[in-house]
Parts: sequence; C-alpha cells; structure tokens
Amino acid sequence: MDLIIFGPPGAGKGTQAQLIQERYQLKKLSTGDMLRGEVSSGTPLGMKLEEIIASGQLVSDDIIIEIIANCISEPECQKGFILDGFPRTVVQAKALDEMLGHMGRKIQYVLVLEVDEEILIDRITSRAAEAGATRDDDNAETLKQRLTVYHEQTEPVLPYFENKGVLRKIDGMRPINEVTAEIEVILKN
Ligand code: AMP
Repeated sequence: MDLIIFGPPGAGKGTQAQLIQERYQLKKLSTGDMLRGEVSSGTPLGMKLEEIIASGQLVSDDIIIEIIANCISEPECQKGFILDGFPRTVVQAKALDEMLGHMGRKIQYVLVLEVDEEILIDRITSRAAEAGATRDDDNAETLKQRLTVYHEQTEPVLPYFENKGVLRKIDGMRPINEVTAEIEVILKN
C-alpha cells in the first residue's frame, strides 16, 4: 500500500505518518527530515538547502524527485510507504506517478488533513517554543511564507489526485487519536 499524507505545514502530517508507519509496516518517507539530515551533514549541498528551508521556499523539483526516486526503489519500501511532505508541486506529483507506474504500483490514497489556518499558526509557534524544538523554519515569519507557498504551489496538487479518485479528506483539528482512527477506517476499505 502506497500512501500520501497531505496538508499545510503544522497540520500533523509527521505525527500521523509515524503512527501509520508503525501500525501498517509502511515506510515513512519524510522529505523534510531527509533534507534536514543533509543540512546537518554540513555538505555544500546541505548549506544551500539550509538557506532555502529557512526562507520557507521549496527546494527544486529536480533535487527532491531524485531523492524520492532513490528511496522508493529501496527494499524497505517494497511493502509500501507513506509520503510526508512530498509531492509539493504538480511536477512532483506527475513524476511520482511515472516512477510508480514503471514499478507497477500506484498511490492508493492521498489522506488530506484539513485544518483551520489560525489555529495552525498557534500550533507551529508553540511547537517552536517547546523545549528541544530546533527547527529554524518554525517561526511566525517563515510560517507565513510556507503557507503562501502551500497555497500557491502545493494545493494545486489536490485536484490532480481528486481526478484520480484517491483523495480522502480528514478533519485534522480533532485530537491525534481521533484523526488516526479516521485514517484507519479509510485504510480498512
Ligand atoms: P517539512 O518538514 O515537510 O515542512 O519541510 C521543510 C522544508 O523542506 C520545506 O519548507 C521546504 O523548504 C523543504 N521541502 C520538504 N519537502 C519538499 C518537497 N517535496 N519539495 C520541495 N521542498 C521541500
């Protein structure tokens, strides 16, 4: 089973993807985590990525598509995966479909976490305030930029998947366990 968890920054994608990974033995693939890993390795590419991430802009499609292409062909993804933070543009969505097509696979569901944007801003700013939160893109200014980028570049991915009949909308404002329960109902079908 190959899944996508979708939604704006702060919607709880990472939390739900983690729970789904454990419950369904699907490999969680978070492009944000992978990019932050590259940044912390201090390579020249990492230094370039750090600047882009801190600005709230998207990393280029070419880079991110190559990263995902390498991941999904790994043995640990053979039983299926859940993508968190990818695709973020229509170009990425089409590239993903093409890759999966070559492997005889396809996305079963795009699980969309729908949230209230004002509450979202509260969530992210409190995440930044929590002890141990070290993401330097979790501040009000960058968040606004990330939301703008989400509306302009990432939301257009939704009609693309809606046309394929794989979109499932979930109320992301409910407690974590209720959101998980709703996802489980969808995945049982
Ligand atoms: P995230 O942890 O998913 O919120 O990602 C953090 C940052 O990494 C984003 O704001 C982007 O700068 C970059 N990023 C993550 N995934 C992608 C992607 N699929 N395409 C382009 N940039 C990405």
